[in-house]
Amino acid sequence: MKNRAYLNNLLILIINNMAKLSRKTKQKEIILEELGSFRSFFTAEELHEKAKKKDNRLGIATVYRFLKEFKHQEELHSYSCDRKTIYSKGKNNHSHFICEKCGTISHLDLKSLDFFKGKINGEICHFQLDVYGTCKSCVKK
Ligand SMILES: [Zn+2]
Ligand SMILES: [Zn+2]
Ligand SMILES: [Zn+2]
Repeated sequence: MKNRAYLNNLLILIINNMAKLSRKTKQKEIILEELGSFRSFFTAEELHEKAKKKDNRLGIATVYRFLKEFKHQEELHSYSCDRKTIYSKGKNNHSHFICEKCGTISHLDLKSLDFFKGKINGEICHFQLDVYGTCKSCVKK
């Protein structure tokens, strides 16, 4: 009889684990789907907001875990924007012009990699550039 109870407990444990596992797969599917809906850069919080609507048990920690996983698989690229980490599915470049006087950050659209020519010992995936200076309205002052 003791053995039977043990077996029952074991069975419950296995079923619980399977349920957990399938929930994980489902959450991964949701995250992948929502990832696909972004056309540009996004933050983990924005992704979490969208994913939460499909599964309210899906926490921000899960989102971070998957983002890290995708990044290692080189399916996702990360950048730092105004002290926040943002992500992109494509190998987009992300560059800023930052005013040293007022701290205003504007985005630059740099596509050419010409200035890297002969300077990098390897293959470029994406780049991020911060250019510092004085913005127009601060120059006028
Ligand atoms: Zn990259
Ligand atoms: Zn930015
Ligand atoms: Zn300024």
